[in-house]
Amino acid sequence: MILITELADSRGLHDPSISGLLIDAAGLRVLVDPGGSPGSVPSLPLALTVADGLDAIVLTHAHADHTAGLPSVTAAYPAVPVLATPSTIALLRALGQFTEATLAHARPTPFYERYTLEPTRQGSAWTVRLLPAGHLLGAAMAVLETPEGCVVCSGDVSLASQHTVRRAARPRQQPDVLVLESTYGDREFRPRALEEARLVAQVCVGIERGGHVLIAASPLGTAQEIVLILAQARLQGQLAGVIWVDELVASVNSVYAQQAALDYPRLARWIALHGNPFRPEDKLVSVVQPRDRGAALQGPPAVIVTSSPTFRSGPGRFYARALAEATEHLILAPAGGAARQHVEQAVAPRRVRCTIGTYGLISHADGAALVALAARWHPELVVINHGQPEAKAALQARLAESGLHAVVARAGQPIGWPARATKMVEMGANRTPRPRKD
Ligand SMILES: [Zn+2]
Ligand SMILES: [Zn+2]
Repeated sequence: MILITELADSRGLHDPSISGLLIDAAGLRVLVDPGGSPGSVPSLPLALTVADGLDAIVLTHAHADHTAGLPSVTAAYPAVPVLATPSTIALLRALGQFTEATLAHARPTPFYERYTLEPTRQGSAWTVRLLPAGHLLGAAMAVLETPEGCVVCSGDVSLASQHTVRRAARPRQQPDVLVLESTYGDREFRPRALEEARLVAQVCVGIERGGHVLIAASPLGTAQEIVLILAQARLQGQLAGVIWVDELVASVNSVYAQQAALDYPRLARWIALHGNPFRPEDKLVSVVQPRDRGAALQGPPAVIVTSSPTFRSGPGRFYARALAEATEHLILAPAGGAARQHVEQAVAPRRVRCTIGTYGLISHADGAALVALAARWHPELVVINHGQPEAKAALQARLAESGLHAVVARAGQPIGWPARATKMVEMGANRTPRPRKD
């Protein structure tokens, strides 16, 4: 029996925006994505506090909702290997949120290579392979081949290529179970090219008006996409002015400068033609040191990509406070993120005079794309995880319409799948095995 459990925290509670899965099969137990909230101290997940062992941790990608719980898990299980792509490990180091002790047992696992997990207790070996997931540099789908069956965990996934990362890989095998994220399972996105054009148009208007344009973005993925979109617009003559990034975006950029083109030939060709937008020496993008920020704002109109979507702290707060009170400036923040309220909290509502706008660059699959991904893998069972209850339910209905059998994971409640040997007997009797919920 394979058991798949969406994790609850030590109080039995579950935040749907946090990812965490425990997979048990053939005597081995693997934790996929010890997620947490950035800045909070995560407790050990409930299933692990009562567990008698753990054989490996797999990180699908570097976002905090998939990794922030890593220190508490590695502290409890210090010798357990942590499998992740080399880019994911480099990004975690660049973000500086984990100590070297937390990453001491990191095993850089390149895309498509098989990593064999030997049993430390009783049990049989598994293999783990990481395939490109499209979402972010280094982001992977995890293919777990166990003696009892094959489980694929999608992680966060995108079927569309972005500027900095290629789309999710096509499957080469049919798994028994696909564990599928559902972050935007109840949404339809506009074509990304339209959103990119809308972003560039807003930035151009802001610069032509003679003000600065402050763009708040996740420093991990979205900021790099924006840098490339704007660098491209400037090369095409659509946009004038300097693009500069804050220190956290610059740290992540240094990993993109080294790694991104290795995984993505289209980006490698762009860099060969125009230079590397993630390396300050190539002069497509500048990094402004903290002491120079004020002076830089005295200069000609510029685009500033900063890392705090809420403007609550750090450079994001500094820039928002410096720009919000003058009419010529523009502040852009992610759509649906309460941009105006955040700026008003940083400055004071009556003093906000700049223009505030939004952009919608999302690096996940929407509902239709998630169904398309599931259809490609064509598993016997889809387990829907990592999403708000309404997104999970909407995705389940859409998968059912497409003839795919899907169940919704509920935190702390294992979903069982019969071992392959059992299934062969049942298949011989011409019955389709149904999942059993324990
Ligand atoms: Zn993510
Ligand atoms: Zn996520």
